[in-house]
Amino acid sequence: MNDIAEQLRRHYSVDGTEPEHPIRRAIAEIERLTAERDALRAFGWDVMVCWPIGAVDRNDLHDAAVKHGLLVKQDPRPTAPCGPTCVCVYDLTFGEWPAGVECWMKTPLLTGGA
Ligand SMILES: [Zn+2]
Repeated sequence: MNDIAEQLRRHYSVDGTEPEHPIRRAIAEIERLTAERDALRAFGWDVMVCWPIGAVDRNDLHDAAVKHGLLVKQDPRPTAPCGPTCVCVYDLTFGEWPAGVECWMKTPLLTGGA
């Protein structure tokens, strides 16, 4: 529960009858941004677990990114490169594509526009 969103909801007595009410949209945006902040903070905590001694290896970083919604597996498995910037373009050879490949995409939480 977000305190600011709840205070706005109570102060303006916003209910479900006006879905496009500016305060209702502001509350939804506050809640969306709060959820993003919480997910990114949780990711940060998982990455910082090795600090100040140690290092994050590639697999741990990948697992934390998936756990907190920064990466998502393409489903169905792509049978052609997703695009010129997708990591699957660099990691695979031509012969692997017909059966589909495992591809992880950055989510809007990471790239913006969530
Ligand atoms: Zn891809």
